[in-house]
Amino acid sequence: MDTSTICVHGCKKKFDTTGSVATPIFASATFAHPGVGQSTGFDYSRSLNPTNVHLEDTVAALEGGTEAIAFSSGMAAVSTLMELFSPGDHIITSDDLYGGTFRLFEKVSQKNGVKFSYAATPKDIEKEVTKSTKAVFIETPSNPMMHVIDIAAVATIAKKHNLIFIVDNTFLTPYFQKPFSLGADIILHSGTKYLGGHNDTLSGFLVVKSNDLLEKLRFIAKTTGGCLSPFDAFLIIRGIKTLAIRMERSQETAKKIVSWLLEQGTVKKVYYPGLKEHPDYEISLRQTSGFGGMISFSVQNEQTAIKILESVKVIKYAESLGGVESLMTYPMLQTHADLPESDRRARGIDECLLRLSVGLEAADDLIADLKQAFGN
Ligand SMILES: *Cc1c(COP(=O)(O)O)cnc(C)c1O
Repeated sequence: MDTSTICVHGCKKKFDTTGSVATPIFASATFAHPGVGQSTGFDYSRSLNPTNVHLEDTVAALEGGTEAIAFSSGMAAVSTLMELFSPGDHIITSDDLYGGTFRLFEKVSQKNGVKFSYAATPKDIEKEVTKSTKAVFIETPSNPMMHVIDIAAVATIAKKHNLIFIVDNTFLTPYFQKPFSLGADIILHSGTKYLGGHNDTLSGFLVVKSNDLLEKLRFIAKTTGGCLSPFDAFLIIRGIKTLAIRMERSQETAKKIVSWLLEQGTVKKVYYPGLKEHPDYEISLRQTSGFGGMISFSVQNEQTAIKILESVKVIKYAESLGGVESLMTYPMLQTHADLPESDRRARGIDECLLRLSVGLEAADDLIADLKQAFGN
């Protein structure tokens, strides 16, 4: 079945006999047992809940995995993932990461004895492999610099060294990128972004294709308890129904905005994987079916950046991305504020960098808004 059809119908509903077209919200913390030692398959909602299972199966089907686990946020998913590792284990990650993930690695996982190395390319990743390396964790396209990493090339290295290969697929979603088909072992999502798509609900997912990893992660998830509420699961199910059409529209408008930005004298550089000049353009063409709706760009100075952020009206100056409302972010002060300044600058995240998540407003209105904010 096509991705857009799976988005609308999700997995087959298994728990409802009324024929209801929408998935019911099973607002039950616990489930009665038919007899001693018997279960309906549901015992307690921290472990499994029917509404959540519908959502989890839908996300798994979209990614081509065997199962997904839903969490209360993307960070709850990453922290659960980190419990797979023990003190002394080493993980290699991409050097440009969502700031919250970086903060978790540096301030929490590190304290618990897990070590990290940062690398930008498959070649550099392989150079960092040691005897204690257990996993590779990448984001592609990366946040906020829009670097693209060759997923299949990293998968080859991970297989060779017996490493768990994790891909954060938040930016492109399974609509544009399918990391399992390129060799990933675990896919991570902040469902708060495109999957939910309405800037109204937090959620996160881990998707797997092996039963061994599934068992370990389900065990950690039910033990640590970062599960998604069935009410929120309902909202994410509803959001996913329009994922395909939202991704298409967001990308179409993003391309128009990129063209406009390139003509502005105040714009020093535009970071968008769909630009032929983007250094990773060829890799994107090979491994994705679209470039998405995220754009980063640099303006000439801090004053201009601040003026734009304070002047946009249709576009909201706010953290987050992937929703129907267009949002502009100042990575230096928001998503990446916890990065040490030298690291931040080395990555190009400075006072001139802005990130735009293109929503579903009319392209002309967004460009008019940018025009007035730029002072044109
Ligand atoms: C937002 C985000 C996260 C964290 O997800 P939350 O739902 O905010 O906890 C992780 N990875 C990426 C790429 C993100 O954009």
